[in-house]
Amino acid sequence: MAGPSEHLGAHYGNNILDSADEPWYTVSTMKKRNDVPQTLIDAIRYFTDSDVCLRFVVELRWPDGVTCPRCESKDVRFLAKRRIWECKAKHPKKQFSVKVGTIFEGSALGLDKWLAAMWMIANAKNGISSYEIARALGITQKSAWFVLHRIRLAMQTETFGKLGGEVEVDETFIGGKARNMHYGKRKAKGRGTVGKAVVMGLLERHGEVRVQVMPGIRGRMLRPEVQKHVEPGATVYTDELLSYRGLDTEYAHMVINHAEAYAKGNVHTNGMENFWSLLKRGIKGTYVSVEPFHLFRYLDEQAFRFNTRKDNDAGRFLRVVASVAGKRLEFKNLIGEPS
Ligand SMILES: [Zn+2]
Repeated sequence: MAGPSEHLGAHYGNNILDSADEPWYTVSTMKKRNDVPQTLIDAIRYFTDSDVCLRFVVELRWPDGVTCPRCESKDVRFLAKRRIWECKAKHPKKQFSVKVGTIFEGSALGLDKWLAAMWMIANAKNGISSYEIARALGITQKSAWFVLHRIRLAMQTETFGKLGGEVEVDETFIGGKARNMHYGKRKAKGRGTVGKAVVMGLLERHGEVRVQVMPGIRGRMLRPEVQKHVEPGATVYTDELLSYRGLDTEYAHMVINHAEAYAKGNVHTNGMENFWSLLKRGIKGTYVSVEPFHLFRYLDEQAFRFNTRKDNDAGRFLRVVASVAGKRLEFKNLIGEPS
């Protein structure tokens, strides 16, 4: 095994032109490499060398070779002493670090801490608080809060295509005293929905979950989301909520009446129920309070872990690192928000 920091300059220098001697990596090829850490303690030891960190992020961020974030040119030069690159094209801000244009941009925190935090967040089943991250990494809670939110951006799953086969669709309420009650049960008790966020979830059985905050539970809000995310002809399982009426024109719509039973054979939304309980355990146990504005980030984080549940810790970590680029604009929305 070659030392990860060997040939750093040569590797980054003219990158794509003379990279034939060393392959650039993707998540799947990286996973097979024997120097990729497998546990948190491995990761912390491995990333104590700042050149190892740099190389690791470069390989996952630019699998086709270092690219100027401003003009997309690959004709760049590595300035070894400063560990930055300079684009050979003529434009302002020719010099850039690996952090430019990513969730790391503008952060003084070393990549060693970032990578350790990424490992922790990607693999904390019930989520992790900024206090825990602060203690573990020896950084301030405020700084840990930003790290946590930025890493969540990297965990946002890009959704492609539609869900098919058997799809469970369900809705839940977050916030307020009734947050752990299913809609059917709450309705039976005649409680209002004031002050609670509505979250809708769609789960392809044995597959992907998609969750989002909704303005309400009316049919005109929920039905278009089913049509947007589920391919026609699929079997859709919902509860008896009236808003789902009419889905049977495009889908095999199976309804479970929760007042009677939680499952009738394979007619149930238990997969979504499991996801809700994971989500709520995380929110209640770890985050203490979730401001409605930030709720979608927690949803993304929990959906990421759920959708990568068949992967191992190293695989989940690599996916997060690989998706750090291109999230900078969204990250700007974080600035100035209350913690
Ligand atoms: Zn350039």
